Amino acid sequence: MTFLTFQQEIELAVKKKVQLKINDNHTTMLSVKWEPECTKISIHRIFLEAPKNIMDALSCYIKKKNGHLCPSVQAYIEEKLQNEDYSYRIPPEKLISQGVCYDLKQFYDEINLEYFEGKVNLAITWFGRATKKNRSRVTFGMYQHSLKLIKIHKLLDNPFFPEYFVKFVIYHEMVHHVRPAYYDTKGKHHIHSKEFKELESQYIHFAAAKAWMKKHYDNFFMM
Ligand SMILES: [Zn+2]
Repeated sequence: MTFLTFQQEIELAVKKKVQLKINDNHTTMLSVKWEPECTKISIHRIFLEAPKNIMDALSCYIKKKNGHLCPSVQAYIEEKLQNEDYSYRIPPEKLISQGVCYDLKQFYDEINLEYFEGKVNLAITWFGRATKKNRSRVTFGMYQHSLKLIKIHKLLDNPFFPEYFVKFVIYHEMVHHVRPAYYDTKGKHHIHSKEFKELESQYIHFAAAKAWMKKHYDNFFMM
């Protein structure tokens, strides 16, 4: 389906004007604003090659208003996103892996060699503040597929966190790259899938890292 046809179909269905924009975002790939006079849609270029069933599901979502995005569309976005590489968009000066206590890049390289034959190719950086203000939960690590970027919370740059634990957080994020999240045929989203957990448990200090996390769980929240 071409975008012109898509736009015309939606306009017919919602009996309203539709403003369609194609984006090349690496985070928000789809946004819809249902305004009284006009429905504004910003849609990623990956939809230019979407199969008919995806476009049909998408137009259903746009017609229905405020409903949930169909899992098939979410799955399509996620799958396509995993194949995109926007890493060139990260300014090199934004990547800071050397900390006061730990060097993330050094840990990452060690893990890459030990577990992945050095074949994983991701960027890694600290993020957040080194001190914790309140009792809010902390995300220790995250992985951004489209940027091929691992971010580790600056809070972990502290001897309070044992080296094997910091490495485990990095390893966990690398496993997210190697065993990406997916939607099954029933539309269930598997982030930490069976395959993910199997690989995650290969970490040499897996039991110790889990035990450490359990002990300190009340203070922090992770991954
Ligand atoms: Zn995770």
